[in-house]
This record gives sequence, structure tokens and C-alpha cells, in this order.
Amino acid sequence: MHRADAGRAALVDYILGLLEQAGHRVTEPRVQLIQAVAAWERQSFTGEDLYAELRPTGLGRATVFRTLRLLQELGVLSRLHLSDGCQRYVVTPPASGHSPEHMDRLICRRCGRVAYLDECPMEDSLARIAQATGYRVDGHHLDIVGLCAECSAAR
Ligand SMILES: [Zn+2]
Ligand SMILES: [Zn+2]
Repeated sequence: MHRADAGRAALVDYILGLLEQAGHRVTEPRVQLIQAVAAWERQSFTGEDLYAELRPTGLGRATVFRTLRLLQELGVLSRLHLSDGCQRYVVTPPASGHSPEHMDRLICRRCGRVAYLDECPMEDSLARIAQATGYRVDGHHLDIVGLCAECSAAR
């Protein structure tokens, strides 16, 4: 098996496991949708993108959007807060050490590519903020938006 395929299969299994743990049934349409979502692992997508992709399988629009919301509740997907009104979703990868509580990423607003930062640029600032406010900080999530190298070269 190709490495990317193996990673994708593991992601599908992980998401299905979360669904079951949360007491949701693993139905065939849900499996189909989760497989499609896993293929968007490094790319942001909208509900419409996913619906267009799954439409030939007969999956209804309401099911697609309902399941996306469910995956968001389970922490598998997060919404990107971009100027388009938070229409875009991105997969929160479970195995890479990036959790919903700590995620620093670069997002290309043109092609939707998502890249994760290995080093946290926030640590020093967070320590200062915690000190100044008395907050015990549990997490943060930083989206740096712009054009990726390829998209900015194409301009
Ligand atoms: Zn780009
Ligand atoms: Zn960070």
C-alpha cells in the first residue's frame, strides 16, 4: 500500500472509531462520506465541494451537511475562519501531534492548501499572556492565512 493511502485508511478507521465511541451508528453513507473527507486531509473544502463529489453515490445534501456538523462536534473537522464566512472545513489530523487544542497552521486562501507548523510560534507570547491575565491557558489555535508559495509565484 502507498504510504499516503495507508495514512488515509488509518484516518478513516480513527474517525469511524470516534463515531462508535460517541454512540453513533456506522452506516454505509457515513463510511462513504468519511472516506471522501479523509481524501481532503491536506486541503480545505466546503460542504458544497463534498456534496458535489458524493452526489453520484446518491448521498443527499442534508445528510452531507449533517454529518459534517457531527464530525466537527467530534473534533475531526474544524472550520476555517476566512473572509468567505467560515464555509471551509479542514481535517484535524489525529496522529500528527496536532490536536484541536493546539494547532498552528498556514492556509492558502487561493488553493485551500493547509500546512501545519512543527514549531509553535506562540509559546513565549502565551506565557506572557497567562502571566498578565491570570489565565491558565489550555490551548490555542493559530491560522495564518495568505498565498502559498505556488499561488504567489503564479501571480
Ligand atoms: Zn495556494
Ligand atoms: Zn502553537
